[in-house]
Amino acid sequence: MKLRICHLYPDLLNLYGDRGNILILAQRARWRGWEVEVDYRSLGERIDPFAYDLIFLGGGPDQEQGVVSEDLKIKGPLLLEAAEAGVAILSICGGYQLLGHFYRSARGEVFPGVGLFPVYTEAGAKRLRGNIAVELGFLPGGAPVVGFENHSGRTYLEGGEPLGRVLYGYGNNGLDGTEGVRYRRALGTYLHGPLLAKNPHLADYILKLALERRHGQVELEPLDDALEMTVNRQVYLRFGRKNFLKFRRPRSSSPNKPAFSLR
Ligand code: GLN
Repeated sequence: MKLRICHLYPDLLNLYGDRGNILILAQRARWRGWEVEVDYRSLGERIDPFAYDLIFLGGGPDQEQGVVSEDLKIKGPLLLEAAEAGVAILSICGGYQLLGHFYRSARGEVFPGVGLFPVYTEAGAKRLRGNIAVELGFLPGGAPVVGFENHSGRTYLEGGEPLGRVLYGYGNNGLDGTEGVRYRRALGTYLHGPLLAKNPHLADYILKLALERRHGQVELEPLDDALEMTVNRQVYLRFGRKNFLKFRRPRSSSPNKPAFSLR
């Protein structure tokens, strides 16, 4: 079996170790004896999205997003076609925003997105920053997905399906309890960290998604994730408790307070 990944705009969209997600997917594939090929494509470079099982876009600051938004005028329609055909896509923060309809920065610039996700994003005055835990109902085992978020953008879903529900943290906009979005095999999320290091259950879910288009339903050989899942649990409890202490005081009416619930 061969896993083919494309990291789009690695020089522009790669905040807080986002590239680590590719290292993790590749390593988990190699541990199972598969071959892995990772390509990198950036501004002005041609891309054949159908040549890949997974396309990855990380996060990036507003300025870089502006440049990428221009380039996506060319690559975007191809990405749309590929997503419709079932190519898996993982996008984080700034990359996620640019797969929606548009991102409006704090300075009022509007960066058009690809329109793959039914979302739009507008920057707010306060950055939504901190540790976050999310419940992804479709993941086996029910463990939360933990990570770190840092964005001024507030993303709003216009229909469509959120990726998960915020247990604590802000998520899409700090108001409606949603986090990320999913459409066919494309996922968008605000979680950095990198996302997959502390969430091996999500990493395997994404590997399966990536392989499905060419190989149909794939059963993954289980790996020993005891250590990673202990980290997941500890991080979840540690930052959950901190959030509990921070937010147990009576809430002011100010919007964009993180949601809180600890199981
Ligand atoms: N510039 C965007 C925002 O602040 C994206 C930031 C990021 O990718 N972390 O909302």
